[in-house]
Amino acid sequence: MGKNFIVADVGGTHIRTACFSIDSQTPRCVKKISTKGVDAPHERLINLIASIIPVDEEIAAITVAAPGPTDPYEGIIFEAPNIPGWNNLPLKKIIQDRFNVPVAIGNDANLAALGEWRYGAGIGHRHLVYITVSTGIGGGVIIDNQLLLGVRGLAAEFGHITVIPDGPLCGCGQRGHLEAVTSGPAIARWVEQEINQGIPSSLSGCNSLTAKDVSLAAGKGDKLAQAALERSASYLGIAIADYLHIFNPSMVIIGGGVSQSGELFFAPLRTAMREHVLSSKYVEDLILTKASLGDEVGLMGALALAQNLVFPESCQ
Ligand SMILES: [Zn+2]
Repeated sequence: MGKNFIVADVGGTHIRTACFSIDSQTPRCVKKISTKGVDAPHERLINLIASIIPVDEEIAAITVAAPGPTDPYEGIIFEAPNIPGWNNLPLKKIIQDRFNVPVAIGNDANLAALGEWRYGAGIGHRHLVYITVSTGIGGGVIIDNQLLLGVRGLAAEFGHITVIPDGPLCGCGQRGHLEAVTSGPAIARWVEQEINQGIPSSLSGCNSLTAKDVSLAAGKGDKLAQAALERSASYLGIAIADYLHIFNPSMVIIGGGVSQSGELFFAPLRTAMREHVLSSKYVEDLILTKASLGDEVGLMGALALAQNLVFPESCQ
């Protein structure tokens, strides 16, 4: 009879779950369903978990990576954008009551940091900063091999630091946050604004631009698209210089779709970061790299949380 971890990654469009033997990083089974349906999202999650548990085998822990602000201590989802009903949802208790095994819940970007530290680009780094740049911007920090949580579990909201006072409106309602300047939608929006101002671009006339369109055009030499990536990367570089001053990591990992733009994004990022650090000591041996877990980062982050929960000594 084997022992297993059941892990889940909940997003606005899909819920994924996987079963791992406790000594393996390769899933025995993965299942995916739509988040929305006739029943409530947490009921869909519970049913999916129930369906993936192997018959007559022991479950060591169930863990869930959830979007949005989350209390990892009490296992409460404060709010989850795009998931109806997930406001102050006591998800840990709901799962524990149903399955009667140890359960832990975490914010998905925080857990992505944990996943990259344990299984991905950050293996062997005791101090690292992880930032994901896609539709939104989130992140996580590993300090001395521990995930930084903060008193309410709300630490490392990297997208919501102010980089342009009175700048563009952020999805959170504040102005000038990094997410409002550097995220995928922010990049596309800036290009559209510049085109409307009469700046020439191969993208003019395109409807519903995405950051991917901008990245592809930049790769083909479009000057406006290149300027958009440079602008986005420069603000991220400034923000990372701030994070270096606070956390002094040996590695910074960039995940999310925008990081796929390659050197067109990373070169201006590095330049801005170096220009804004207090001392070259922060960047001399710093490794700035892309995330390595790709689409699996949510499940692998939840797996790392399960390992931490059941084998806490493995974090040392
Ligand atoms: Zn914000």
